[in-house]
Amino acid sequence: SRQFTRPLNDLANQFNTLLSAVAGAERVFEILDEDEERDIKSSMTLDRVRGEVEFRNVSFSYGDDQQTINDVNFRALPGETVALVGPTGAGKTTIINLLARFYETKSGEILIDGIDVRQIKRNNLRSKMGFVLQDSYLFQGTIRENIRYGKLEATDEEVEKAAKMANAHSFIMKLPNQYDTVLRQDGSGISQGQKQLLSIARAMLSNPSLLILDEATSNIDTITEMKIQEALYRLMKGRTSFVIAHRLNTIQKADQILVLDNGSIIEQGNHQSLLENKGFYAGLFHSQLVKESG
Ligand code: ADP
Repeated sequence: SRQFTRPLNDLANQFNTLLSAVAGAERVFEILDEDEERDIKSSMTLDRVRGEVEFRNVSFSYGDDQQTINDVNFRALPGETVALVGPTGAGKTTIINLLARFYETKSGEILIDGIDVRQIKRNNLRSKMGFVLQDSYLFQGTIRENIRYGKLEATDEEVEKAAKMANAHSFIMKLPNQYDTVLRQDGSGISQGQKQLLSIARAMLSNPSLLILDEATSNIDTITEMKIQEALYRLMKGRTSFVIAHRLNTIQKADQILVLDNGSIIEQGNHQSLLENKGFYAGLFHSQLVKESG
């Protein structure tokens, strides 16, 4: 598959940075080793994905002892936005880890377009997913190469078009070597917000059916923040999106909000219905969310 046409060090690098954000870097080599073996059972490749996602009685624990995810059930229709909300440690990242099969469910099933994800080859599954994470996973190479990672066969025109859609083109054109500017391994040279725009451009280029977004909480200036917001809405349009949400605005617009606490969904609905519930979410909204937005 496409991902494995890259040199292994780039691949490892890609997984490394991606996983350190999502699942924990210590898992990288374990996952690379396991991939082949597990994919014997996972023999399906999907061509077009509509983007229906369902969790059915999903439970999971990282170790043997404590249950991290407890009987999670939800269904997202194609194109919907699902916001995952809840305190640190509630299980938001774990739900994403399971969906992308960085970890396997212990019980229950996760279905994409009605197909159990365990039946789908991992590389195929991930090629249907775009990730825009807090720690954008850029590698040492040019800006062009970093965006093109979303679609290795993309032409320069396609790369630029994606950058424009992602509101990244204008800052790139102001760099000394524009699209040929080399990003250093440590990511210095461009701002946190600009890194986000690049990872949005990459996701835009890869044209995934499913999107995983982890909203940045780090300090990003207001103008870049607005550019990111606008680019994200453009990216999310027509794709099923899972957002680990920190922004009130995102949460309010979501089709579904899953409120997690201690590994369980304690409330589920859209903003309006959850406010009317006057439960955990309403409390959260009236305390910390209002403060954050102000
Ligand atoms: P959230 O994203 O809502 O902050 P997480 O899904 O990251 O929550 O974490 C849920 C629980 O699982 C926490 O108790 C966390 O400590 C634990 N956890 C997360 N990742 C791992 C891991 N790789 N190994 C063991 N425990 C983990």
